[in-house]
Amino acid sequence: MSDRSRDLESAVAAVRSAARACRAVQDQLVRPEALEKGDKSPVTVADFASQAIICAELERALPRDPIVGEEDADTLRHEAPLLKAVVERVAEQRDAASAERVLAWIDRGTAKADSARYWTLDPIDGTKGFLRREQYAIALALIENGRVEIGVLGCPNLPLDGGLGALFTAVRGQRTRMQRLWDAAAPARTVAVAALERADQARFCESVESGHSDQDESARIAEDLGIKSEPFRIDSQCKYAAVARNDASIYLRLPTRADYREKIWDHAAGSLVVECAGGRVTDADGAPLDFTRGATLDGNRGIVATCGTIHDQVIAAVRRARNA
Ligand code: AMP
Ligand code: MG
Repeated sequence: MSDRSRDLESAVAAVRSAARACRAVQDQLVRPEALEKGDKSPVTVADFASQAIICAELERALPRDPIVGEEDADTLRHEAPLLKAVVERVAEQRDAASAERVLAWIDRGTAKADSARYWTLDPIDGTKGFLRREQYAIALALIENGRVEIGVLGCPNLPLDGGLGALFTAVRGQRTRMQRLWDAAAPARTVAVAALERADQARFCESVESGHSDQDESARIAEDLGIKSEPFRIDSQCKYAAVARNDASIYLRLPTRADYREKIWDHAAGSLVVECAGGRVTDADGAPLDFTRGATLDGNRGIVATCGTIHDQVIAAVRRARNA
């Protein structure tokens, strides 16, 4: 097996297993399982279980690879009931899941983003969507020499073929593929972005959370571009999946605060999924996303992903809105 297929297979197995744990938690979601992190985003049992499962799988398959994940085990160490719930979920997916090992697996995901090769993980992207029982994603990407080489998005609630659950895989240089998430034997097919000549035909997507993207500004940009359709609001990197498979042709993420820096785990997998489906991804100024700056996209502000053909038009409209 070539290195790429081993990398991809390991990542897919890890994401599928984590997705099963997330679904199990979501099936019996109760309020006490959500607690507040310092930044006020809800953290769930599923966040921790997902990170533990993915780090355990990558440790087994690719033991030398560092993982830059969103979570760490500090809170869990002081929350015995929460830890117990997490261990139960992980044990459904993996043998030998003791409390100690689960904590160690989660903390395997706290590497610094300073190696030539590392994985970046959002164990549940769109935690708020997860808590609303709407869209969320398990996002895992391989970064080598500051470039995203593999992106895997598990989208447990995204419709596909009359059911729910879609898995997107992107390998640089190949077409993005989509398949059913829960059925490893189901065939994969390639997906492609919209073939649009004019931006006024576009449907755009954005965050449900107005704190994550400036929805007033996106409405002005849409009007400027002549877009009549309502924005498609979905949580998480499912927005990138939507652009990749032509459920939408623009994803706008416009800063709500000058000091916010996008996290690499919120964009690495999704951006490659769009690019390998034929689309383009830049920041709101039209600059390429720069994955060489550590755990944040320090050199970028905002995100614009499109089907490609209309990208320059969209960036021009973003600029006009900002200068207005
Ligand atoms: P979304 O589901 O697209 O709304 O994005 C969810 C992600 O938004 C989370 O994973 C957070 O990392 C990220 N986030 C948190 N605060 C902000 C903010 N002020 N601006 C942009 N993104 C944010
Ligand atoms: Mg996230």
